[in-house]
Amino acid sequence: MENPAGPGRLLAKNPDLIHWLAAAVAMALDGVAVNAIARWLTDSGAPVPGRRTGRGEGTASWTRQTVDGLLRNPILAGMRPHNPGRGRKGTPVDPFNVVRDQTGEPVIDESLAVISFELFAGLQHLLATRTVPQARKRGERRSTSQLPSRLARCDHCDVFLCRGTNQGKPVLTRPRCRQAIGRAGLDPYLARRLLAERGDEAWGASTVGRRWQAADGDDLARREILMAQLETLRVRRGVVGRRFDEGRVVISWRPSQEGWGAGVVGRLSRDLRRDLPGQRGWSRADLLYMRRAAEVWPSENEFVQHVAGQLPWGHIMVLLDRLPTREERDWYAVFGVCNCLA
Ligand SMILES: [Zn+2]
Repeated sequence: MENPAGPGRLLAKNPDLIHWLAAAVAMALDGVAVNAIARWLTDSGAPVPGRRTGRGEGTASWTRQTVDGLLRNPILAGMRPHNPGRGRKGTPVDPFNVVRDQTGEPVIDESLAVISFELFAGLQHLLATRTVPQARKRGERRSTSQLPSRLARCDHCDVFLCRGTNQGKPVLTRPRCRQAIGRAGLDPYLARRLLAERGDEAWGASTVGRRWQAADGDDLARREILMAQLETLRVRRGVVGRRFDEGRVVISWRPSQEGWGAGVVGRLSRDLRRDLPGQRGWSRADLLYMRRAAEVWPSENEFVQHVAGQLPWGHIMVLLDRLPTREERDWYAVFGVCNCLA
């Protein structure tokens, strides 16, 4: 409650909160995870401490930090924190750093206690031995690889997924969308797709694949490569958890750096003729003409209006070969005089 005699809050059992607190402590003592307790409190509509009703209603939810702070607060056992306030950054607050009497025993105010000193001590031991990374202070966590940071967006809200963990496994996640994808599967999948689809592509004096190999062991360098090659990388929402499902990953690459040279057209022509046997018009030369046609008449509308509706493909090829400028090609195409050119 607010201290009527001055700043700060007086320590007193808050009747609105106390039964929620007792239930939360009981759950924690049963080994329920702090996150699960926070979810349960939110779902049950427990009032969030320090939040006045009427303001921000509907958005109020319990966080792991709030629940964790309450469970580690010595006031649970009727003790008063010694030198209360924030611990230094990165150093955990010692729940047993409390006001003590001359004999060194903690001063306990039974009227404030929710649980006994013994239960409180047991609870602290439980919390301290949790191995879930989220249960630890940031400074004590092992950081995960930076390979995918600010690379993949949530397909639902267009926001970058951030690195995190789920059940101790690294994931990319967007908690607000309840979206997570396991990185044990995602990271190698990205590498596989990159090497299979872009590996042979020229990049400066090297290739994408060779650069990727050269960056072995350097996650930031590999991230640079992915950023240079990826147009978009999106993750569709799916089953929340650390599982990986490649059907949720949507990749599009940037326009090819090697353009249409360096054997790409030949490869495409071979593939098309294999997939469309018996159809003519997919030779390497045909494809190069199509590309030039697309450059000269960039929009489909223009192409149909000026050219395709009026002339057979062979004549379009002649126009592209014989006439230097777009204006001349248009003129001949529109007036259909290319017969005399052929
Ligand atoms: Zn989202």
